[in-house]
Amino acid sequence: MSTLVDYDDAVARFDPVIGIEVHVELGTRTKMFDGAPAGFGEEPNTSVTPVSLGLPGSLPVVNGTAVEYAIRIGLALNCQIAETCRFARKNYFYPDVPKNFQTSQYDEPIAFDGHVDVELEDGSIFRVEIERAHMEEDAGKNTHVGGSTGRIHGAEYSLVDYNRAGIPLVEIVTRPITGAGARAPEVARAYVQTLRDLFRALGVSEARMERGNVRADVNVSLRNTPQDALGTRTETKNVNSFRSVERAVRFEIGRQAGVLDEGGSIVQETRHWHEDTGTTTSGRIKSDAEDYRYFPEPDLVPIAPDRAWVEEIRASLPELPAARRRRLQGEWGYADAEMRDVVNAGAVELIEATVAGGTSPAAARKWWMGELARTAKQQEVELEALPITPAQIAALQKLVDDGRINDKLARQVLEGVLAGEGDPEAVVVARGLEVVSDDGPLLEAIDAALAAQPDIAEKIRSGNLGPVGAIIGAVMKATRGQADAGRVRELLLERVAQG
Ligand code: ADP
Ligand code: MG
Repeated sequence: MSTLVDYDDAVARFDPVIGIEVHVELGTRTKMFDGAPAGFGEEPNTSVTPVSLGLPGSLPVVNGTAVEYAIRIGLALNCQIAETCRFARKNYFYPDVPKNFQTSQYDEPIAFDGHVDVELEDGSIFRVEIERAHMEEDAGKNTHVGGSTGRIHGAEYSLVDYNRAGIPLVEIVTRPITGAGARAPEVARAYVQTLRDLFRALGVSEARMERGNVRADVNVSLRNTPQDALGTRTETKNVNSFRSVERAVRFEIGRQAGVLDEGGSIVQETRHWHEDTGTTTSGRIKSDAEDYRYFPEPDLVPIAPDRAWVEEIRASLPELPAARRRRLQGEWGYADAEMRDVVNAGAVELIEATVAGGTSPAAARKWWMGELARTAKQQEVELEALPITPAQIAALQKLVDDGRINDKLARQVLEGVLAGEGDPEAVVVARGLEVVSDDGPLLEAIDAALAAQPDIAEKIRSGNLGPVGAIIGAVMKATRGQADAGRVRELLLERVAQG
């Protein structure tokens, strides 16, 4: 094994080129070629039909909604939509493909020649060229039992679940992405994130990375200078989180630089990504001439999307994420840098929903980008994975706005909600956190504080209001922060005026 080259050193001496293939599972009600429900998480092998099991004599029928979703994706990626296109059989023998071929599109994709603008962390825009977006079906899921790696080698036996077989997928393939230089890992992550947001905005998929609705294969190659021809690439398969996409590209750049430094050459192969170690290992050797013996699918007629229909779909596209962000930034009055932080933290939807719940944009940002962002970072999870909803934040802020709790108590309430103690109201009641603004207990605490600090009491009585803070502070302390500070001040002044 050659040594891994330090990242900065690698990109100082080599020019990285990347290419990304993204698979998205479409959120259609039924599968790509038959009427089996396309759900998630049912009992194994319950959502199957003769077509998705590849039984002899069964015939596929194309899911019209899947075609419409594929066109939506193509249009949103500024692609041409094919006048006519066909499905092909991609032949290979593996138990997760019961037909022994995957029905896919090959040389006639439904959409091609597009581009998408990706916003990087510093706010700059990087354009990624799209080669094609094509339709295909997902394979089933193999589970290798026994053995330590979860892979087939060393397993005692394997199980296969065909529920996923036949779920409609769209695969989006970039042209080789050049010109990113040292930012290649960031471009890769931002691109996948941009697509995820797009899928959600288009309503074509729930696009949950952690459920594998969106899966990325990342191709990486190095060359000495941007003037050289492209180097040989490796393809790291099934990288399933934004962070991993960035890490995988970064790792491959360092690894390939090490191989090249030692006079070795890069083998065109697929590689496995290991989340735990942040490394890739060799998979199967893959040559360009890999023989899947593609041929046109004889059981399906070509698809020729009617031009008027395509234009109808174009006209019905929703507001896309980039435009939406610009609009929301205007509505919320956030500065550019504030909005960028919000976008990078994945907080746009969360803030939008919180504002819809009646919270001011400033307060919504304060919660999500402050206390909650810190908690998410500590727990190393995405903001949206925290066990708290925008509605709960809106309810929490309402308690503050109504004067029932103050900011300090609000943080304790938040803690309670995050700990699963219930909605803000329930936490306030259960923990007894409501602000005390009843005069009775406040007056008692004021008298006690005055008695405990006679010097200060004397000063205040003689008209020197400088040290009132000390008394208010003592009252706050005595009430465990639950006193309404404004009311304490009023009562204190009345008290000393009475002599
Ligand atoms: P495969 O069938 O091997 O997955 P695809 O054409 O589907 O091939 O995808 C290959 C991906 O790799 C595309 O995104 C392409 O732009 C990219 N790519 C091609 N050549 C290179 C290269 N030399 N370096 C990096 N990426 C490359
Ligand atoms: Mg591919």
